[in-house]
Amino acid sequence: MSYDVDLFVIGGGSGGVRAARIAATHGAKVMLAEEYRMGGTCVIRGCVPKKLMVYASQYHEHFEDAAGFGWTVGPATFDWPTFIAAKDKEIGRLEGIYASNLAKAGVEIVSQRATITGPNSVRLADGRTVTAKLILVATGAAPSMDSTLPGSELTISSNEVFHLAKQPKRIVIAGGGYIAVEFAGVFAGLGSEVTLVYRGAKILRGFDEDLRDHLMAEYARKGIRLIMNETFSAIEKTADGLAVRFRNGHETIVADQVLMAIGRRPNTKGLGLEAAGVALGRNGEIAVDTDSRTNAPSIYAVGDVTDRVNLTPVAIREGHAFADSLFGGKSWTADHATIPTAVFSEPEIGTVGLTEEQARLTGRAVDVYKATFRPMKNTISGRESRMLMKLLVDGETDKVLGVHICGPDAGEMIQLVGIAVKIGATKAQFDATMAVHPTAAEELVTMRTPSAKYARSAVN
Ligand SMILES: Cc1cc2nc3c(=O)[nH]c(=O)nc-3n(C[C@H](O)[C@H](O)[C@H](O)COP(=O)(O)OP(=O)(O)OC[C@H]3O[C@@H](n4cnc5c(N)ncnc54)[C@H](O)[C@@H]3O)c2cc1C
Repeated sequence: MSYDVDLFVIGGGSGGVRAARIAATHGAKVMLAEEYRMGGTCVIRGCVPKKLMVYASQYHEHFEDAAGFGWTVGPATFDWPTFIAAKDKEIGRLEGIYASNLAKAGVEIVSQRATITGPNSVRLADGRTVTAKLILVATGAAPSMDSTLPGSELTISSNEVFHLAKQPKRIVIAGGGYIAVEFAGVFAGLGSEVTLVYRGAKILRGFDEDLRDHLMAEYARKGIRLIMNETFSAIEKTADGLAVRFRNGHETIVADQVLMAIGRRPNTKGLGLEAAGVALGRNGEIAVDTDSRTNAPSIYAVGDVTDRVNLTPVAIREGHAFADSLFGGKSWTADHATIPTAVFSEPEIGTVGLTEEQARLTGRAVDVYKATFRPMKNTISGRESRMLMKLLVDGETDKVLGVHICGPDAGEMIQLVGIAVKIGATKAQFDATMAVHPTAAEELVTMRTPSAKYARSAVN
């Protein structure tokens, strides 16, 4: 049977773009549909604009710290519209690059919504039907909103936060995951009054407990108000702003914006997956095997829509592996083990491998190396902020199981130390690596004495 195209990709984000470009490079006839803007969440309303906001927010402390080094900085002010315009220009530039790289590779882009109508057919919003030998679903995820919350229509998600006309002087953020935590740091750095509300006892569930405690202490020091074990009961519009009311007794807080960062759900609704018999998982994600294959032989899925590890580099790897395997005669799968990752909080977090809790749950002997110190720059600047570094080592094999850092440049450090952890380096090999002095990262190869040692234990 002949088809209009070899591959139809739904979604022009991190995973879809990579898969389409690589498949086309291998000689496949590829069409890609994107209903919003080329580049997807990461480029348009995720990693990239977020990181630009983080940079903008850091100047505040740079100006303050400068005084300790002898600089006199005049009155510093921040202009939100100027920053937003510069950010939008850069995002527009990147969007153009994504589209032109696809076109150069020979991918046909259709700027409209696509839905699946069968195992080998897709319908475009303009009514056209396209048949394809293979379909790749790379539709990503969208912010979850609490529609049961009275006043939920007054709240915004991470989609809108990048386009606010005015900087909120007072912002309440709901959520304890990395997105909530990052925006809390951003707005505090920009001078807004920030309250972070989370239903659990601590932010950043799933991260190492010491990291969670450390960042909470740093945020409290910066004046970010952390309200834990609490949820909203209603949001109401008042003359003074949005009144945020709580379920567990906290007094009402009035804010200019209420940002919901309470999770993301895979974009599978209304996609026509049932027409092709594609099975979904418990959270509405597309269920796939390690080759990103769904239960329908002609349909694959990569990235956030599969809810495996929801990060850009992971979506890219999955898309690349799919395209090489199906069109390039080179079969491989994306490796989801030991993924280094960063949280662009202020200070930053970098983490790779097992947390202390996870390491101990495996039942192996675990040595913990931990250091907290004031980074050198903070000495004469007078800034109180401290850095945390933590290494988890297998007490029997000496293999480094996890590295957790909170402090300046932690994201840059974890990319590099992630290589060592990925290849199974031992603590002795870390120690044999000469320190780079004076740096904060040298602490990673100079921690000599464990702060705790746990013997091998039975696994439940
Ligand atoms: C605020 C925020 C910050 C983030 N920060 C980071 C970070 O620092 N580092 C990191 O690694 N990850 C980060 N992420 C996560 C990262 O953005 C995602 O993991 C990544 O974008 C997933 O890529 P994807 O290809 O699966 O989906 P997406 O990039 O979401 O792309 C999916 C695309 O499909 C389109 N689409 C959906 N349905 C259809 C349809 N039916 N027809 C046509 N088009 C459709 C959408 O418009 C979208 O463009 C962040 C996410 C957010 C929200």
